Amino acid sequence: RGAIAFKNVQFAYDPARPILKGISFEVPAGKTVAVVGPSGAGKSTLSRLLYRFYDVQEGSITIDGQDVRDVTQKSLRSVIGMVPQDTVLFNDTIAYNIRYGRVTASDADVEAAAEAAQIADFIRDLPEGFRAMVGERGLKLSGGEKQRVAIARTILKAPPILILDEATSALDTKTEQEIQAALDIVSRNRTTLVIAHRLSTVINADEIIVLKDGVIAERGTHGELIDRG
Ligand code: ADP
Ligand code: ADP
Repeated sequence: RGAIAFKNVQFAYDPARPILKGISFEVPAGKTVAVVGPSGAGKSTLSRLLYRFYDVQEGSITIDGQDVRDVTQKSLRSVIGMVPQDTVLFNDTIAYNIRYGRVTASDADVEAAAEAAQIADFIRDLPEGFRAMVGERGLKLSGGEKQRVAIARTILKAPPILILDEATSALDTKTEQEIQAALDIVSRNRTTLVIAHRLSTVINADEIIVLKDGVIAERGTHGELIDRG
């Protein structure tokens, strides 16, 4: 479940300047499709339309055949997990940030998610443990640690659909590789839409869509795109 279909999607923030000029592609249930392309190509706009921060102006986006415009924001957000480029954490405990939106999750569930995201050691090493605060008045987490909190939150939420919007692009190379490994595990068997700016970071995607000037310039597997130059 969680198959996504973009059909002839058109969108402009400013009517005089179309951003997406008729985009069609599918993310089959459980598969990973990556959208790459130069900055400003409209990649993030695609994920914002799926998440309904904005609505398409022409065409449609469906999940398992249902138009996202017919789905409440609340239920849409329960089926889609998002790991953005820069995770903004609440100025509260790490546990609160992992649990965010999942009020019924037990402490053991939160701890298990932290363990899976490989931040359990890090949390235990903190003087106040799970109660440690993050944010301006409290602990400063590194970019990689914040992404691990976002990954733990996603593991706890266990959504059928995952959006990874440049989730590793703000990190240094070593941290990027570690976070990528964690994301590969989270995206396994989930319908995953990856937004990336470099082809080299999406080698394992089932399909790669190259977006340029609001249209699909190329599509294929990593190997196919490399062969074509
Ligand atoms: P990408 O993710 O490929 O870098 P985006 O989808 O973020 O591209 O943005 C596509 C274009 O839309 C860019 O030219 C950007 O400046 C513009 N844009 C993005 N968000 C807004 C907005 N909220 N209002 C107006 N223009 C926007
Ligand atoms: P859910 O509660 O189902 O996780 P939301 O749409 O409320 O869905 O949140 C989606 C994601 O957006 C969260 O997992 C979190 O990463 C981020 N988010 C939402 N609101 C905020 C906020 N006010 N501050 C920081 N992050 C937020």
